[in-house]
This record gives sequence, structure tokens and C-alpha cells, in this order.
Amino acid sequence: MLTLLETATRLAQLHCAACHQTYSPHMLQSVSPCCQQPLLAEYSLQEPLSRVDGIQPTENSMWRYQQLLPLQNAAHRVTLGEGWTPLLLLPRLGAQYGLRSLLLKDEGQNPTGSFKARGLSMAISKAKELGVTGCIIPTAGNAGVAMAAYCARAGMRAVVVMPRHTPNAFKEECYWYGAEVHLVDGLINDCAALVRQLNADNALLDVSTLKEPYRLEGKKTMGYELAEQLNWQLPDVLLYPAGGGTGLIGIWKAFQEMRALGWLAADVKLPRMVAVQAATCCPLIETLAGHQANCHAYVGQATIANGLAVPRPLGEALMLRVLRESGGTAVSITDEQMLEGMRELARQEGLFVAPEGAAVWMAARQLLASGWLQPHEQVVLLNTGSAQKYLENVMGRFQD
Ligand SMILES: *Cc1c(COP(=O)(O)O)cnc(C)c1O
Ligand SMILES: [Zn+2]
Repeated sequence: MLTLLETATRLAQLHCAACHQTYSPHMLQSVSPCCQQPLLAEYSLQEPLSRVDGIQPTENSMWRYQQLLPLQNAAHRVTLGEGWTPLLLLPRLGAQYGLRSLLLKDEGQNPTGSFKARGLSMAISKAKELGVTGCIIPTAGNAGVAMAAYCARAGMRAVVVMPRHTPNAFKEECYWYGAEVHLVDGLINDCAALVRQLNADNALLDVSTLKEPYRLEGKKTMGYELAEQLNWQLPDVLLYPAGGGTGLIGIWKAFQEMRALGWLAADVKLPRMVAVQAATCCPLIETLAGHQANCHAYVGQATIANGLAVPRPLGEALMLRVLRESGGTAVSITDEQMLEGMRELARQEGLFVAPEGAAVWMAARQLLASGWLQPHEQVVLLNTGSAQKYLENVMGRFQD
């Protein structure tokens, strides 16, 4: 019998993304010992679970899908109300550009102002369940703020390593949560090097993107929400601003899980997934174009979309697989274009989106102009964050 607080999670095991070797979900894990690749959480999806039984309708957060999430005991939940964000129609922009159905999922409304809240709520909850007392993270900004907030809420020590050029609002918020902040000259991969040094004794849990299995599980809830909000239909095209890629990989994972559960009818087509990157840091595009075998030696530059300055994502192969399996593509957008997108979304729709979200809108415009995207198709833009903490990057640029 389950005690009252146990959540009947369907979590079964973890497997290596490269070779499928399996590992226990009941102990702390990092990357797979076999291939040093991400570990993916696997659930028992064969036993029937209806949508009615599988969703807690009164839970207005990502935790409404708790049976498809990895936490064993709800008492370990570290939550600030993340997820269940609105899926907004953009009627004015849609009409202006001739798009029949243009929607935006607004992740800027999450605690700490970005979708990083989902992943860090999940990772810190699971860490708490497994007895962790402190965490460390290399970050471009938002992930560090989210980790600092959830660690504070969990009573854990937090160490955040971010580029020195990150807007001060990100650093300041980390300080308020009581985190220890280290600044590095460089990008997130340089921060990762300092994390390895600071955590040489492994005293802290390293919650770097895809180096522990559970941030991905938080991010995948965007896929579940999208399906539920569209009444178990899916859009034709979904555009996502890809840095480390957890959202892209996680949403696609959610679609596969919902398929296996029978939550998506057989005739529901999965969307073509688009990865949007910054022109100054677009490793995926370089790999897809055949300019490099992979991103291992890619050198990127800073962008006003701090979250996209990820030159060497560990999840590159997984991201490329999503693009291939979905018939998707990758697009790069300049900082100037992002500013234009921010102006349009702000003036036409009242949305003050992060440069990453604006990039996604500009990518949709580009794909529409090229004919890859058709006017009758339903398009979902994933806006990953609010512009609030990026003011230093965009100050005064409301006019061109
Ligand atoms: C981190 C971040 C991204 C990129 O997310 P990944 O999961 O690393 O692909 C995009 N937008 C914002 C606002 C972010 O903070
Ligand atoms: Zn392996």
C-alpha cells in the first residue's frame, strides 16, 4: 500500500542516452558512467493510465503530471508554483503576417521569470529526496537564479557560476536568495570549468544541463501542458530557443510518453520542431551545415539572449535527433533581429519577452517568408523567459 504522501510515480529506471545501459533512479546519478552521456528517466507506460487518472486537475502547476514525474514522495516537493503557464493567442501579429493560428506559451510567467523554474524545481526536489545538502551550477543566468531560489526554499547551500558580463539583475537576485556567486570571464563552458574545480571533492550536486537526469523531467511538462491546453491536439510547428536543449529534448520526450500512454490519438501528428539559435552562437546550425562533425570545438560569442550562448551543448546529439525525427530545422537570428522581435511582441501583443523568445518569433517570420512554414499551419512559439532581468542588454532600444 502507498502511504498518503507517496505519489505513485511510474518512474522505472534511468538509461544512457547513447547505449541504453540502465541505472537505478533511487541513488544520485550524474552522466552515464558507461558513455559520459545524459541519463534519461524511463517510466512504466504499458499499464493503462487514463488522462483522467493521470492528471491532478486541481494542481495548477507542472505537478499536475506527478505520476509521470520522478519524485517518489510528495513531501519532498520543492515548489514555487512553476508551470501551467498560459498558451496565448497572438491575433494581431498573426493577422499582420497572415498566420491563421499563432500561439505563444508564456514561460516568462514562471517563478524567477523563466522556464528554468520547471527544471530546477524538479532537480532540487529529487536532490532533496536523495539527501543532497548543496548544489552547484554553471549558468548563463536564468538557471542560476532558479537554482538559488529553489535551494533557498529547500534549505540547501547554492553555488552559482556565471559569466561576468551577465546583466546585474541575475547576479543580484542570486545574492538575495543567499547563493554564493562566482563570476567568470567567458561563456557557460568556461563557467563549467570553474565548477569542476570548485567541486573537485564532489561535496555539491552538479546540476549542469543534462548532467543530472531530472531537470529534463521538469522541462518535459511543457509538452504535456501544450497537449492538454490544445485539447490533445498538437500544433504543426513548434519553435524553441535552444541553448543546452532541455526544452527541445524534454518536449519531444513528453510527446513520446503521451503516445505510449495513449493520451495522443494515433492520427495526431507530432509537430515539426525548430531549434532557434543566436547568430553569434549557433553550434547546431554549423553541425547541420556540415561545417563541423559536432560542437566539441565550437567557439561562440556572447549575445543579448544570454540563454543561447551555449557553444558546446552536451545534448547536441539528442537535439539533432529531435530535429531529424520531427522533420524540423534550425534557424539563427541576430541580436538586432531579436530587438525587432521584442518591439513587435511588446507593441502588438503587450508581451515583454526575453530576447530568446523574440528570436523564436523572428525565426517563425523567416520560415514563413521562405515557404518552410505555411500560412494555414498552426504555430506555437515557446517564450522561455521574461525580459525583466535583461534590461541592461536592451535598455533604451524600444525604438530602432
Ligand atoms: C536557458 C534558456 C534558454 C535555453 O534553454 P536550454 O534548455 O538550455 O535549451 C532559452 N531561453 C531562456 C530565457 C533561457 O533562460
Ligand atoms: Zn552508455
